Amino acid sequence: MSAKIDQAAVREIASTECFCQRCHAPLDPARTVWLDLNWRSGRYRDEPWPEAESQGCFAFGPDCARAVLAAGGECVEIRGQRVCGVRIGRKG
Ligand SMILES: [Zn+2]
Repeated sequence: MSAKIDQAAVREIASTECFCQRCHAPLDPARTVWLDLNWRSGRYRDEPWPEAESQGCFAFGPDCARAVLAAGGECVEIRGQRVCGVRIGRKG
């Protein structure tokens, strides 16, 4: 089993104002769940993907994060909305 995303570490470097990637509701930073996006498969998960496939972490509300994980990492997004993404643990 791989290590989970370090939620506290991502929160540290994330912008203060974030919106849920799935429902676009404003997020309480203390309750934001960060999921790593795989750009090949388009799937999110709560463990980091291999660097070559990772698009970075994206913010979700707790309920949406649960729903995305329950759907095997699939997230249907509403187009044209602001998203919050953060690259973690990678230089350059
Ligand atoms: Zn949401």
